Amino acid sequence: MIDVQEISKSYRLIQALQGVSFGVEAGEIVGLLGPNGAGKTTLIRILTGYLHPDDGVVKVNGLDVLTDKSQTQAQMGYLPESAPLYPELSVQDYLVMIAQLRQLPEDQWIAQLSEAVYATGLADHLTRPIGELSRGYRQRVGLAQAILHRPKLLILDEPTVGLDPTQVVEIRRLIRRLAEHSTILFSTHILSEVEALCDRVIILMNGRVRADARLSDLASSPD
Ligand code: ATP
Repeated sequence: MIDVQEISKSYRLIQALQGVSFGVEAGEIVGLLGPNGAGKTTLIRILTGYLHPDDGVVKVNGLDVLTDKSQTQAQMGYLPESAPLYPELSVQDYLVMIAQLRQLPEDQWIAQLSEAVYATGLADHLTRPIGELSRGYRQRVGLAQAILHRPKLLILDEPTVGLDPTQVVEIRRLIRRLAEHSTILFSTHILSEVEALCDRVIILMNGRVRADARLSDLASSPD
């Protein structure tokens, strides 16, 4: 579903990514683990078509993200590290705005909005302004916008960062539920998050892939 080949990216003197390659199969839930500054956000912004790499190719379902940007973006849901939510809008108005921006057919809005709202547990908060919600609920709104167009691929940048422990548990539960229908790649700097959610981990350090393994293999390895 995702094919990343030899991606490199630098910001002037900082080499954020160096020859990063990996693939993700349909149905997998993959954690991109790395410390602050490892290059996770840079990689995710390239995968989602929001940043051009200096080198390399990213394909989603066989389509090049750079040359077929709108088609590939239509197939993925993206939760950025700080989702651009509009604090003055109600949850419902915001999701309707996203449905319009995504150009979803109007006769499908009710079905797709209801599905996203149900999946993210937002039904009781539809009329609340986003700015009045807790960070955990704002994260749910971010996830609702990411799944509104029923993407087969979800890319989540540090989905639990800044949440309190209860909210972390809820968002992890939600991600596990979303994984029943979508392939998921998410970034984190917390090992336990990977252990709690993933089939596979890709460890990124200093802009390079340092390990790419199934969790079951890591657990049985002698070191
Ligand atoms: P974090 O967990 O802190 O968000 P990260 O793993 O997502 O880190 P990136 O944000 O991709 O890492 O950053 C990788 C490197 O590139 C870091 O050294 C960072 O300082 C640098 N960097 C990122 N964005 C820019 C930018 N716009 N301009 C200059 N340097 C940048």
